[in-house]
Order: sequence, then structure tokens, then C-alpha cells
Amino acid sequence: MKISAKAQSYIDQENRYGAHNYHPLPVVLSRGEGAFVWDTDGKKYFDFLSAYSAVNQGHCHPKIVQALCDQAHTLCLTSRAFYNDCLGPCEEFISKYFGYEKMLPMNSGAEAVETSLKLARRWGYVKKGIPEDRAVIICCEGNFHGRTISIVSMSNDPDSYSQYGPFTPGFVRIPYNDAAALENALQQYGERTAAFIVEPIQGEAGVFVPDEGYLRKCYEACKAHNVLFIADEVQTGIARTGKMLCSDHEGIRPDIVVLGKAISGGVLPISAVLADDDIMLTIKPGEHGSTFGGFPLAAKVAVAALTVVKEEHLTEKAEYLGRIFREEIAGFHSPLIGQVRGKGLLNAIVITPSNGKEAWDVCLKMAENGLLAKPTHKHIIRFAPPLVITEPQLREAIGIIKNSIKALE
Ligand SMILES: *Cc1c(COP(=O)(O)O)cnc(C)c1O
Repeated sequence: MKISAKAQSYIDQENRYGAHNYHPLPVVLSRGEGAFVWDTDGKKYFDFLSAYSAVNQGHCHPKIVQALCDQAHTLCLTSRAFYNDCLGPCEEFISKYFGYEKMLPMNSGAEAVETSLKLARRWGYVKKGIPEDRAVIICCEGNFHGRTISIVSMSNDPDSYSQYGPFTPGFVRIPYNDAAALENALQQYGERTAAFIVEPIQGEAGVFVPDEGYLRKCYEACKAHNVLFIADEVQTGIARTGKMLCSDHEGIRPDIVVLGKAISGGVLPISAVLADDDIMLTIKPGEHGSTFGGFPLAAKVAVAALTVVKEEHLTEKAEYLGRIFREEIAGFHSPLIGQVRGKGLLNAIVITPSNGKEAWDVCLKMAENGLLAKPTHKHIIRFAPPLVITEPQLREAIGIIKNSIKALE
């Protein structure tokens, strides 16, 4: 891939002055609009990562940016030491939007996951009667819930946890997509298990879609053992998979829902935890918080971003366009393509290395041809465009993907 001197200078600067905790594709972006981004040389790309599904509403959505700018001129941050006239309306809006009695605002996805773990443990002690400090939370192999020490304590990906110990105790890990494994764990630890936390589709692990019925079986097992079912919908939620929440595909209503990423349309770091009073009110004033969580700017942006999702029918679009994507790729035969899988517009192609070329090379070739995506776990490329992408745009992008793969055969 050709890198201009200008782009290289930004890359060098990050390398020299920034921590090396990422390995980006060598493109330097400076502008975005809808499904597209432009680099510092003015080259246009389809964005098929959408900032890990934070930009479901498209880059710089005018209504979301307007909400941000209007509120930025008025009042940005009050802290929660005082009330403000934005948070209440936002809490009511989001609670009703998703059908829960309460929401608790945080900033990053990881913070919202942490909050859900605290809530579950608290509920376990106060409501279920688990002896103090004995609560268990069951998680899944291959999970990605964020980067804090407690969260990486759940991880079995050495990149995530190695040399960050000692780890937070109280987690039991079971295979993903194995409802019997959950039932066994509940037989063994059910009495002191507060919650089961699961991604309805494992995004970071490579868009692993569990078998139909898996989530429902897990949900029912949780109910039978008086255990909370926590859905980490940070990546799968908010229309991405063709339903508002991915849990909706199986008609289950998680006890706790964790949201992040697209709740702001990519404009601010905003996250939220949803639950009913029975769970949410076990945390009392002073027992949890965040200086920025639910700040006026975030409150206005979240309402605008979620309004756009409904106004523009992004859920239905994700469902419809996702089918086209999978059909087109499944019908395209190449020695480099092992499998295509996904739901809605959260999809992945598993690359079979061939001719000395692997997923990274496919991504470089696609970038050259005007489409950005990134490998996750070496051989898997996730394809998750902004949901505002139109059908002609999607078909053009599919053409780029096919041509890029063909060029490497
Ligand atoms: C991205 C992600 C997180 C963490 O969100 P951050 O905002 O990066 O902290 C948590 N869970 C899932 C499923 C994610 O995809």
C-alpha cells in the first residue's frame, strides 16, 4: 500500500509519542460523512468497521452533531452533585425506549460492564442472600467485555490478560454456545451465583453467532436458579444485528442490558446499564458513580442518536442489507474465503490463508481499493458498515471486497 509523506508523518508521530497499544491499518483519516471516511490525501473509503459499531448512525450525523453543538453552547458538565435539565429527560427516554424501569449512565462500555457486575453482586447479596464476598459471576470463553482489570479477569485471551494479574476473583468461565455447560455450572455454583454475563454474538472474538435457542436456554436456566442474565449488547445492540437488541432475536428480556458504542452514534463516549427497580435500586446514593456519567452533553446526544435509529429505520435496514451481504459473499467462491457468518450488518468473513496471503493482506488490498475493515484474531475480518449505508452503496462495497479478494488469489 502506498503511503504519502503526509500520512507517514502522522503515523510516525503516533509511533513516537503515543503508547503502542494498537496496530492500526496505515491509513490516516481526517473526515467522515455517513458510510464514508476520507484520508489526509483526500482519498475516500467505505468504512466497514464503524468504530467497532459505534457509528451505526453514520459519521457526523447532522442531527446528532446539532444536538451536541447546541448543548455545548449551553451547559456541558454539572457533575451529579446537582440536578440538570437534560439527564432526567434522557433517563426517561432511554428507559421507555428499551422497556426497562431504570437506566444508569456511564461513559465507556467497560465502565458499564463493571457497573453491571457491581449491580449483580449487590443484588446477589441483598436480594438473593448470597453470603458476603462469595458471589460468583459466570462468563464465557472467548468473551470480550472491555479492558479493566476486573473485566480482563474474565478473559481467556492472553493478549487481554497476560501480565496484568493478580486478577479479580469470583468469575467462573464456561464454553460459549453451550447451554449444558451453563446448566452444569449452575448445578455446581447456582446457590452463590449472582449472574451470567454473555454477548448475544461474540463480536471481538470474530463474530461468533451462537446456535438458535442458545440464549433462550441460558435465560431459562438463569431463571430456574434465580440468577441474573446480563446481556453485554455494547457491540450487538442498537439495531446492528437487525433487531434493536440482539437479545430480541430470541424474544428474551435480559435482567440487565449493557449498552455503549452506538448509543452516541460515535460522537461521545456514552454507555448505559438498563435494569428494573428490583435490581437497580440495590445501589444507594454514594455507592457508585462517575464524574461525567450522564453529563448534559451526553444526555442530549444519546437521545438524538437513538431518535435517529428509529427515524431512519436502521434496525430494518440492518436486517435487509445484512441478508444481501451474506448472500453475495456466500455466492462468491474463492480459495481465500472459508466462511461468511453474522446477523444483520454484523458479519465476518473467515479467511483461509492461501498463496501466502492472509486477512491482513486482504484488508490492505481493500483499503487500496477504497474500503476499510480490520482483521480480528488474525484470520477473521469483520464487516460492519454504518447502518445508514444505502443498498447501491452496499452493492458497490461488496464489489470492492470481491475484487480485492480476487486480486490476491
Ligand atoms: C467494545 C466493547 C466493550 C467495551 O467498550 P469500551 O467503550 O471500549 O470500553 C464491551 N463489551 C463489548 C461486547 C464490546 O464490543
